[in-house]
Amino acid sequence: MRKAIGVTVFLSILILVVGIAAAQTEQTNEYEVSIEPHRLSTRTDFWIYTEGTIELTLQWTGPRNLRLLLYGPGQEDAYLDVIETSPMTKSFAVTSEMLARGQGRWKWQFQVGNASSVVAQLNISVTYPKSLPVINYSRAEARHGDALPFLGQEAGILEYAAFPTQEFTLNWSVDLAMSGITLEWSCGAVSPELASGVTRDCPNPSTALTSGRGSRQETLGELGQVYTLIAKNKHGSSEARVIVVPQVWIGYNMAVCVGCSPCQDCGRTPEIERLAAILREIEGKLNDGCIRSNSELDRFGDPYLRDGLTADILNAMYYLVVYPDDDFLPDLGARTKCDVGVYGYTPGNKEYVMICLRKGADGLTLLHELEHYVDPNTTECRAPWVAQWCYGCPATIPCPTCSD
Ligand SMILES: [Zn+2]
Repeated sequence: MRKAIGVTVFLSILILVVGIAAAQTEQTNEYEVSIEPHRLSTRTDFWIYTEGTIELTLQWTGPRNLRLLLYGPGQEDAYLDVIETSPMTKSFAVTSEMLARGQGRWKWQFQVGNASSVVAQLNISVTYPKSLPVINYSRAEARHGDALPFLGQEAGILEYAAFPTQEFTLNWSVDLAMSGITLEWSCGAVSPELASGVTRDCPNPSTALTSGRGSRQETLGELGQVYTLIAKNKHGSSEARVIVVPQVWIGYNMAVCVGCSPCQDCGRTPEIERLAAILREIEGKLNDGCIRSNSELDRFGDPYLRDGLTADILNAMYYLVVYPDDDFLPDLGARTKCDVGVYGYTPGNKEYVMICLRKGADGLTLLHELEHYVDPNTTECRAPWVAQWCYGCPATIPCPTCSD
């Protein structure tokens, strides 16, 4: 055969990845390939992380027969070496033993040989098991003392609370992440209030984690923190997020705010100071007897309202847990409250109160919620009659219209 001087490409391969399998558990790649006479195609790579079946389908014009070779990771010899006519379909079972032989390598390859004297034009399809990285866990744990209060869990997101400067450990365990694991920090879990027109400098640093299983020591800043773990392999990526929300002493005995944002040089009062001021304001009104002197409460025929309720609210305020917004409420179903026009919320288990401080809720709202919080027979009539009366019904705000 005459040598083709000056023609360095004996073999031209056009690879077109034209499709991805419909099912999440399978990946299909399709290729259009042309192979010169008496040549082997270059090897085509694909990656397999779990047991399953490889389906190879070849259809061609040109030669009568072609040779198909299939190589597994860590193997010199082909697992499959066949010569057949078009169309050729081959199934091959990938076993756990084969995966183990790869010793951490996951690359498979196929190759096609054209022993004839004519050019082969092929369509090749390969289907194989698809496996995204598996994040076994990604979580925060206290380094000293008590566990971090757990706020909630949504798809791929765990939320905790911690005091600023508190140290904690971020732990993760990831499998099948062959191209790396990245940890990203985004802006804090809560936003500081900024004066209008001031934009926030919000870098998004990240670091590559060198191990599929490990931990990092972290110290919480005053805005809390959001950590996103991103695990990648050749089939795609998986993500898990850990949010640590700051909890802060209100400055009212042992009262705590979960998710209060500070205010740095913004010309406004930090939420924590506003809550403390509201609690002092309520304390003053209650000590002045605004509930005890409210004869309108006699309509309920319950002496508790003008007797024990005042002391119960004052006591509760000293150990209160307050959320200034619904973003991080432990009760996931309540996280849209502030968006639907509600000003406050007290869950049935009385673990905390939330007032939509960022939507304009104030002492009136908090006292209303505190009535719900301590009164064992609370209703949507008792709470407004207590709170609105203390805040000036009917002189400055309307009295409730309910009577039972
Ligand atoms: Zn209410």
